Amino acid sequence: MTHVFNSGCPCCPPGSGLSRRQFLCTTAASVAAAPVLASSVIGAAEAAPRAQAGRPILIKGGCVLSLDRAVGDFEQADVLVEGKKITAVKPNISAPNAQVIDAKNRIVMPGMVDTHRHMWQGFLRNVLPDGSLEDYRNVVQRTFGAKMVPDDVYAADLLSALGAIDSGVTCILDWSHIGNSPAHTDACIKGLQDSGVRAVFAYGAGQNESGRVMEIATSKYPGDIGRLRKQYFSSDDQLTTLYLAALGGSPEATFAQFKAARDVGARISIHVGVGEFGRNALLEKLDALKGLKDDTTYIHCCTLNDTEWKLIKDTGGTVSIAGYVETLMGHGNPPVQKAIDLGIRPSLSVDVETSVPNDFFTQMRTVFSLQKNEVWAKRLGGDKNPPKFLTVREVLEFATIEGARANGLDKKIGTLTPGKEADIIMLRTDLLNVMPINNAVGAVVTSMTSHNVDTVMIAGKIMKRNGVLVGVDMNRVAKLGREAQARNYKAANVPDKRI
Ligand SMILES: [Zn+2]
Repeated sequence: MTHVFNSGCPCCPPGSGLSRRQFLCTTAASVAAAPVLASSVIGAAEAAPRAQAGRPILIKGGCVLSLDRAVGDFEQADVLVEGKKITAVKPNISAPNAQVIDAKNRIVMPGMVDTHRHMWQGFLRNVLPDGSLEDYRNVVQRTFGAKMVPDDVYAADLLSALGAIDSGVTCILDWSHIGNSPAHTDACIKGLQDSGVRAVFAYGAGQNESGRVMEIATSKYPGDIGRLRKQYFSSDDQLTTLYLAALGGSPEATFAQFKAARDVGARISIHVGVGEFGRNALLEKLDALKGLKDDTTYIHCCTLNDTEWKLIKDTGGTVSIAGYVETLMGHGNPPVQKAIDLGIRPSLSVDVETSVPNDFFTQMRTVFSLQKNEVWAKRLGGDKNPPKFLTVREVLEFATIEGARANGLDKKIGTLTPGKEADIIMLRTDLLNVMPINNAVGAVVTSMTSHNVDTVMIAGKIMKRNGVLVGVDMNRVAKLGREAQARNYKAANVPDKRI
């Protein structure tokens, strides 16, 4: 469409070195037989059974990367799921009543966690592959976003969420700055709920043609967050939880947004340090207002100053790096090393599917190569004391437990730990892009794609099995997407072309 717009293994003590055996998985070429779990409606959350007829699920004989250092990783082990929860992770679990899922030739690990994605753009994938940040604002936000109706954003959120599940992302923060009206917001939440994904709904402001979004008469941002809390998020013990997507602006306006979130006990997510505009020392000014707390995730952070970085660290904030889009669109250098230098373990995010693939394998490889390139550059420049290289295990933690932490859910998900909810993915190791396996974590981080995602479970429900989403009518999903796309193009007066 660019023509239109010109536009360390816990089994070993740290530093002990890991035996090759601990990272090996078996690679026999048989394919696991699948239990039949299909149903016929959209909304896998309702369709996919938890343990059938109350039976536990035993994931048997996989290469288990729990990513919990107290639990360990196993060349071959089992994971027992009862109801919503993981109840055991170890070799040779006996559970005579359980429904067994054969995990031979599979890596079993926690689902990946995205901490920032604008899911209302779900049917605008790849619309702006060559665009800059300014192009994005003009095209995606002020042209398409300004004209979206609630049915459009429902379809977009649903598409984006199903795509996330399909690619092994089990939890995702929907940074929803499409609050053009309360009906838009409600439609986004419905899309998330119908998808069955574990979602953090970050309620945001709207979009209009001028970009002065606080002038949108029908938007109730940010005050409507009180209604949302009562209507949809009265319990925290559910798949969808509430954040505020802080619009930013002046320090006083931003502080008022933060207050609206805190008044209803919602955590906060905000874009900071983006391009030239991000050099405005906003965090220093917010700190002067006593606005910075440990309930906030800071996205991008590419052009923050050193004082602002220290404030994030000192106030216990979390960080979301969207490395791929930051390199593409002019946000600034993705601050992977900067975060590590301060002892901040970043989370990762896709941000915009309008320019960026929806999978987390891309995100992991991006930050891995960027950090290593930065270190190599220092070494080649004569630096005698360069930073350490990131390891694939650290990157996998960024994509899982650090995401869970930034999404306020680290006690519930992010590792395969007994007592946590069962957000689990199984990745095929018998495909030609990774077989035969020599290093399990390395295979996931450096070589896998969504094609390897065989099985996805969220809160004990099977959402994808044998490489196919369970209980999703793909024809209906495609039709919803096409209809929303056509409607939005027409409303935005954009020629409906694909090449
Ligand atoms: Zn963003």
